[in-house]
Amino acid sequence: MDSLRGRFPGEPEYLQAVEEVVGSIADVYDRYPAFDAQNLLERLCIPDRVFTFRVSWVDDHGKVRNNMGYRIQHCNAIGPYKGGIRFHSSVNLSILKFLAFEQTFKNSLTTLAMGGAKGGSDFSPRGKSDMEIMRFCQAFVTELWRNIGPDTDVPAGDIGVGGREVGYMYGWYKKMAREFTGTFTGKGIDFGGSLMRPEATGYGNVYFLLNMLATRGISLEGKRVAISGSGNVALYTAQKLLSLGAKVVSMSDSDGSVVIADGLTADDFEEIFELKTMYRGRISEFAERHPDRCVYYRRERPWRHVAADIAMPSATQNELDGDDARALLAAGVIAVSEGANMPSTPEAIREFQAARILYAPGKAANAGGVAVSGLEMAQNAQKVSWTAEEVDAKLRDIMADIHAQCLKYGTGTDGYVNYVKGANTAGFLKVARAMMAQGVI
Ligand code: NDP
Repeated sequence: MDSLRGRFPGEPEYLQAVEEVVGSIADVYDRYPAFDAQNLLERLCIPDRVFTFRVSWVDDHGKVRNNMGYRIQHCNAIGPYKGGIRFHSSVNLSILKFLAFEQTFKNSLTTLAMGGAKGGSDFSPRGKSDMEIMRFCQAFVTELWRNIGPDTDVPAGDIGVGGREVGYMYGWYKKMAREFTGTFTGKGIDFGGSLMRPEATGYGNVYFLLNMLATRGISLEGKRVAISGSGNVALYTAQKLLSLGAKVVSMSDSDGSVVIADGLTADDFEEIFELKTMYRGRISEFAERHPDRCVYYRRERPWRHVAADIAMPSATQNELDGDDARALLAAGVIAVSEGANMPSTPEAIREFQAARILYAPGKAANAGGVAVSGLEMAQNAQKVSWTAEEVDAKLRDIMADIHAQCLKYGTGTDGYVNYVKGANTAGFLKVARAMMAQGVI
């Protein structure tokens, strides 16, 4: 860690993600001296390569705009590089390096053949017209297309990149490469996308939660669940929870949070879904329409305002800190299952684990999204389409398998399951064995 801190001093999120993994796999790493003889851990922590480029595009007023673009190809020991693209004003090298690093372990856990990668830009789609989004996506892919491909590197969506953006990027990729292959996942259903891909991360997180609750014989029905975010992951998490009889008591976006003490009704959910997906509206608009049932907290996260049994942070990294964790625990929270990547700070994780509640890190709990991306790659390669039921069944099996791996490597002598340790160890061992077999490259 000291060596990495010295070499990458301005990259706090990257160092935070690495420190969490290194700390939790130290004992298993030390058990195999051959790993260290090949300096394997350092090789695994530093990305294979990083592309950085300027993306110039023309806005609707004829003004030339410049953004930064990145692709981190972290590790392809067990399969082609694979990971989403994020468009958000906060994007920088540190955030993408942390995401690519985490992706490597997550993809390993899915049991599918996918390496780890991530990319993105500090471009914000918010307030941009469709044509501006399209021109930006085309300019972004013009820089990237030579370095990606169905067996090389397969991007997908993430914050700010949904079906519309993937469609524009894939279209331009196809034109530049003159091939129709599964180089992106999260594509539209009519051109190679998989059924259930939009739902997969949120549904998968709920499946993981069900597996965790089962270890303590707890039922989800009637439980109050606090969600943050109102994007792809948060919406489908809420949808699945409602279908299973749980109560969704909060949602949020980057402007603020709405708390609905009695829980969202099915009609409320439809209203929010439409507001967010069709009109790209704000969660405050929903709160304004239902002042009798909702409380809106401007510029605040939900955690300190909500009475919940379960928390599912599904917005962004470091959105739940030590104070938030203590507030949730004081309110009686029994489980936290992360939809976002690294939403809980290290202090928050320590609080959850010290309280011995069920706590699942994103790299295990939100792996359903990339798992179904892997299934999309498999369908594209075979030029077939599976039904929603087939994909959902495979997703359930994969989440159960990831949960089982966490139990195998994370169960302590007192019976408490440290899901961080379990996920990191299982993900690490597969990648490490592959790296050892392939030599120093
Ligand atoms: P979306 O862009 O669809 O939604 C993101 C949501 O989080 C929006 O409600 C957004 O609000 C909010 N948000 C984003 N940044 C911030 C911030 N800095 N502070 C507060 N709220 C914020 O993204 P996704 O739902 O796809 O992604 C959410 C999380 O899940 C991310 O951590 C992502 O990496 C992770 N993830 C996503 C997967 C996927 O399949 N999409 C797979 C695995 C993990 P606003 O609209 O105001 O920006």
